[in-house]
Amino acid sequence: MIRTMFAALAALLLAGSAAAQAPAVSTIIHAGRLLADPTTGVISTVQSVLIGADGRIIGVEAGYATREGAAIIDLRDEFVLPGLIDSHVHLTSELGPNQLIEEVTLTDADAALRGAQNARTTLLAGFTTVADLGAPNDSIFALRRAIAEERVPGPRIIASGAAVTPDGGHGDVNGYSPRVNDALRSIAACSGADACRRAVRRQIQAGADVIKITATGGVLSNTAAGVAQQFSDEELRAIVDAAHAMGRRVTAHAHGVGGINAALRAGVDSIEHGSYLDRESIRLFRQGNRYLVPTVLAGAYVQELAQRGGVLTPAQTVKALEVGARMRQMIRDARAGGVRIAFGTDTGVSQHGQNWREFDLLIEAGYTPLEAIRMATVAAADHLQLNDTTGRIAPGLAADIIAVSADPTADITQLRAMRFVMARGRVHLGG
Ligand SMILES: [Zn+2]
Repeated sequence: MIRTMFAALAALLLAGSAAAQAPAVSTIIHAGRLLADPTTGVISTVQSVLIGADGRIIGVEAGYATREGAAIIDLRDEFVLPGLIDSHVHLTSELGPNQLIEEVTLTDADAALRGAQNARTTLLAGFTTVADLGAPNDSIFALRRAIAEERVPGPRIIASGAAVTPDGGHGDVNGYSPRVNDALRSIAACSGADACRRAVRRQIQAGADVIKITATGGVLSNTAAGVAQQFSDEELRAIVDAAHAMGRRVTAHAHGVGGINAALRAGVDSIEHGSYLDRESIRLFRQGNRYLVPTVLAGAYVQELAQRGGVLTPAQTVKALEVGARMRQMIRDARAGGVRIAFGTDTGVSQHGQNWREFDLLIEAGYTPLEAIRMATVAAADHLQLNDTTGRIAPGLAADIIAVSADPTADITQLRAMRFVMARGRVHLGG
């Protein structure tokens, strides 16, 4: 009797450990064509992606597999690839004709709710991960949590919260009367190395995954302050040291070449925009594991707005015409120089859900569709330190999977029309 009980217990334990080794398959995607790893670019036909109840990929196997109790998702007529990654968005806002009045009428709660709406739009456009680089802390950190807890649909968010900015600089509030500027002043504005170290530490304390800084002026700050270097070299070094000491990477908004190169010399991990980069910038980019997030779409879009009129202020218009034109040349120079690119759009400047427009601009600059897809999958995952989480369809990674009707490595415009979107194992579109 006791022996039988032991045997039964042993069998139970064995079954338990076997189950731990081979988690139960809850969902199987039948993929007619599959680009599992954009690094290789290999396209396989008639494949099955096995997914567990925890939303992770268990395995990929040839043929149309079945397992008892597993749901089948039929994508035999579709082209399946990893979910896309946008390394630069602003989910909680969208540029429009009411930008100046919204700054003083909307609350952080409004921003969070708009962020929820924009997050859903972004997800349905095939982007299962984004880096949000500049939003009110409370709004974006709450949205990040709500999506992680599956309370609202949206992409996985890597969030910086408020950008660390020089006082009165690109990331601060500008263009109102001094008393209104004071009232709206950014909580992450600083002057001097000590104050900037503190701003970085306070952002990490508040919940920042990454530190976003505004190293130079920017197009959309309502001030005629140009797009040259704004943080001093000393401030840049203090920011990078403080962030790295607490395990956070630093990404720098930078247009003017002096600011790009000063930020790279100070040790930032990546540059957003990079509009006026030169040979020296390219040399600095190639030292270490650094990425450029080109956001060509933001340049093209503000140029359109400046030409059309009605949205940008006079101070913004002057900068938009100049920088917008320059960014198309920048991406060609970056390509010629072999700079590593992570896909990013600065959406929120342009309209949410149209992140795909950046692909067209990358192709226009001479990249192949596969190279552009790599930027938005494996390269962006590497840039955001999510190599073990997303960017490929491989065992152990999150089931972030999309499908379109034809091969996007032959025709990039396929990425405009998603047929299927799964994020962390949950289906949000199609299927
Ligand atoms: Zn931005």
